Amino acid sequence: MTNNIKQAIIIGGGPAGVSAALYLARAGQKVCIIENGPGALAKAHKIDNYYGIAASGAKLYAAGLEQARSLGVEILQDEVLGVEYTDCFTLSLKNTAVQLQTEALILATGSKNITLNLPGLIELEGKGISYCAVCDGFFFRKKRVAVLGNGAYALHEAAYLKQLAGSVTILTNGQSGDAAKAAGFEVNTSVLQAVEGNGKLSSIRFTDGSTLAVDGLFIALGTADSTDMARKLGAELNGRFIRIDGDGATNIPGLFAAGDCTGGLMQVAKAVHEGARAGLTALKFLRQHKTEEK
Ligand SMILES: Cc1cc2nc3c(=O)[nH]c(=O)nc-3n(C[C@H](O)[C@H](O)[C@H](O)COP(=O)(O)OP(=O)(O)OC[C@H]3O[C@@H](n4cnc5c(N)ncnc54)[C@H](O)[C@@H]3O)c2cc1C
Repeated sequence: MTNNIKQAIIIGGGPAGVSAALYLARAGQKVCIIENGPGALAKAHKIDNYYGIAASGAKLYAAGLEQARSLGVEILQDEVLGVEYTDCFTLSLKNTAVQLQTEALILATGSKNITLNLPGLIELEGKGISYCAVCDGFFFRKKRVAVLGNGAYALHEAAYLKQLAGSVTILTNGQSGDAAKAAGFEVNTSVLQAVEGNGKLSSIRFTDGSTLAVDGLFIALGTADSTDMARKLGAELNGRFIRIDGDGATNIPGLFAAGDCTGGLMQVAKAVHEGARAGLTALKFLRQHKTEEK
């Protein structure tokens, strides 16, 4: 697989990601935003609490992307499935065959709004329930694992686990399992009722009365969000949000975050502020990096 190297990559084309891109692009950096269509912003019927604006969220979202484009920002419509770090950040995408690489990565995917009220889930987190195949797959070598989810992200996690685990079953929770079957995975489409185990996950119970004996369950619902990616990269989290310092930097050099994914006030004003700040800090990082290389 060939790689495509970018100066700075921003995952997310909402107010946080676009604001970061504006500051980087206007300072002469080559920036690429990867985004997967409207996030939280486009769901807002009307934004009338942001300075100088009274417009629908969808209109504001489209205007933001257009503004970035007009300043030379490359906008790539795709879904990021995973990020790894070796000498730089390497991104795997759903529809782009090449992997993208960068020295400065800004996470701005908003916050995934999927709640899973499954009895036993909270109690068994870290005791068989995991949210990260790269982090925890090692503990399930030759064991029976299941992956909950039916999108490209779930298949990406499952493909990683397949190299380590004894068996991998995709649980679609009542959704279609066609894509997973086509990819060669064992699929169970039953609706989940509970996860069970005495201090350690041992089985999954379904509403049709059946059970599946497992050692591990990896949750990979929807698309990967910033927190999923930060967790894989070893960044510090604050619950389900990313921990950043006062400049928008995480504890990993070159990795920044902004917007809803950092928690706190989930509003456009805060996303714009954090995006601008992360963009400027990433700029400083890139310039320092360049000086050190000379
Ligand atoms: C119904 C509703 C009403 C709201 N009303 C208001 C309001 O009146 N005023 C206000 O200030 N705020 C409001 N908000 C909140 C506001 O929309 C958010 O705080 C703001 O949009 C957060 O910006 P963001 O850039 O962090 O994330 P988002 O706007 O959610 O943008 C996320 C971006 O990340 C991309 N993305 C996600 N995952 C991936 C992936 N794996 N690969 C590639 N791209 C990905 C998406 O495609 C999107 O471009 C409202 C939110 C909702 C849901």
